[in-house]
Amino acid sequence: MSDRRSFLKFSLLSSALLASSKTLLAYHPANKAKLPTAVKDQPIVISTWDFGREANAGAWNVLHTGGRALDAVEAGVKIPEADPENQTVGYGGRPDRDGRVTLDASIMDENGRCGSVACLENIMHAISVARAVMEKTPHVLLAGDGALQFALEHGFKKENLLTPKSEAEWKEWLKESKYQPVMNVENKTHRSIDDTPGNSRNHDTIGMLAMDAKGDMSGACTTSGMAFKMHGRVGDSPIIGAGLFVDNEVGGATATGMGEEVIKIVGSHLVVELMRQGMTPEQACRAAVERINHKNPEAYKNFQIGFIALNKKGQYGGFALQKGFSFAVRSGKEEKIYTAKSLY
Ligand code: ASP
Repeated sequence: MSDRRSFLKFSLLSSALLASSKTLLAYHPANKAKLPTAVKDQPIVISTWDFGREANAGAWNVLHTGGRALDAVEAGVKIPEADPENQTVGYGGRPDRDGRVTLDASIMDENGRCGSVACLENIMHAISVARAVMEKTPHVLLAGDGALQFALEHGFKKENLLTPKSEAEWKEWLKESKYQPVMNVENKTHRSIDDTPGNSRNHDTIGMLAMDAKGDMSGACTTSGMAFKMHGRVGDSPIIGAGLFVDNEVGGATATGMGEEVIKIVGSHLVVELMRQGMTPEQACRAAVERINHKNPEAYKNFQIGFIALNKKGQYGGFALQKGFSFAVRSGKEEKIYTAKSLY
């Protein structure tokens, strides 16, 4: 009898749980009407930092001729990946503390498919390897030697990514071997690394989001990560949901800055979900930055975080923890670099 009673209790509890989970999951049909309809024939691309301008130009070549957003974001971020003067992405990126350039990258398309590579060495275009992971394997993320092996098997060329400039900086760093990531903060010590405006950072990422003429969205994110990091350290950029997230029903988001903090709140996914609930891209980026700040109110003293987002209406925005974050926009209407608002 008591068995029967507990069975009944269990069944009642399960139906109650089922009912409440149905309510929780009901956002799809219930909110469908609220989801924005994509704008058509108004392609647009946005990217992190000033160097996003050149990357956007590469993406725009694809977008304005009717190409697919996925091809646009890959073509776009390949530009900083190949630029030896850009010391935070791809070839020429600053190495880890062992003198090895290790790359993180991810890509996501309009069908929610995604691919990424982490801690990849000796291949310039990590983004194209990430795309190959997405298109040619049943997996999402390949790391380290396995990622390199996969790349070589798929025809990527092995090359030395450490430029004399980055090697010299690493040797200089070795003298003190002080591991202190200095972020992209206009008013702080990062300028001790390199005083060239726009390149005065010891780590940045190119994160890019695009919507094509059909109204479909894709995103890409690629970086050499934090300069002089521990060998094997992986940041947010190849972690789907952290450094990059795209939901073709809602929009996309991507992150730059202290990857560990972005991972802790699964930042880009959070931004997209907040847009799903009705926030504008800037509001959603701000809320994600506020979440990081709330969890760790001392954070602003030590690092930078920046998010950018693009929604299906073609609205975009960005927000950062600290001053000094910029993002570049290219569309049929404008080609511009914006300074993001910041919490501090
Ligand atoms: N988010 C990157 C990382 O943590 C670096 C950056 O964007 O500044 O590896």
